[in-house]
Amino acid sequence: SDLVIAIDGTSGSGKSSTSRGVADRLGLRYLDTGAMFRAMTWWLLRQGIDVRDGDAVAARCEEPEILSGTDPTGPGIVVDGIDVGRAIRTDEVNAAVSHVSVVPAVRTRLLHLQRDVIDGGGIVVEGRDIGSVVWPQAQLKLYLTADPGARAARRAAEAGGADVASTRESLLSRDRIDSGRATAPLTMADGAVHLDTTPYSLDEVIDQVVALAEA
Ligand code: C5P
Repeated sequence: SDLVIAIDGTSGSGKSSTSRGVADRLGLRYLDTGAMFRAMTWWLLRQGIDVRDGDAVAARCEEPEILSGTDPTGPGIVVDGIDVGRAIRTDEVNAAVSHVSVVPAVRTRLLHLQRDVIDGGGIVVEGRDIGSVVWPQAQLKLYLTADPGARAARRAAEAGGADVASTRESLLSRDRIDSGRATAPLTMADGAVHLDTTPYSLDEVIDQVVALAEA
């Protein structure tokens, strides 16, 4: 299959679970591009680099080797031989990643890595700019949103009962930076289908996307 499904949207919109579920149902591979930005951020923090210093970030961002798995049931992400699947989900990385992802050199480096993976065909790709920048020729593009309250509640539950109010602040702060940046801001791509997931269960959202893919 050469079907590419691009799923963009805000954090906590149900993007990850939906993308993995759709890939699993349709027998496609899966790529989490947010995990790549998180992996880059994890590596920069580990080098002691100030992530708010765009020049310092740009100077070093070619160095880490980042390998993304594509199995929807357990994609895995490895940086310089280290499995960082858990390490990229910490509060420290959450707070730093939007500063790293505004740096054009970072976006260019990861864009090449992303296109190399997608080139293999048959894949669901989730991110912020997949339908607009990374793979505008995708046969199906989705733009997922949800109310901030619903998103924070989902993310806090995923994090094993974290505080909903502070989770909400962290989500909204990343949204502001992601939507306001000059390079590849989060916007709805041409031809994308907007799906507000607030009233639906995960299975219902997956059903809707699968139906669109099979239409
Ligand atoms: O999807 P996730 O919340 O893991 O993404 C983490 C961060 O990575 C986002 O807040 C955004 O700054 C960045 N990102 C991006 N472009 C993508 C995917 C993620 O800028 N395609």
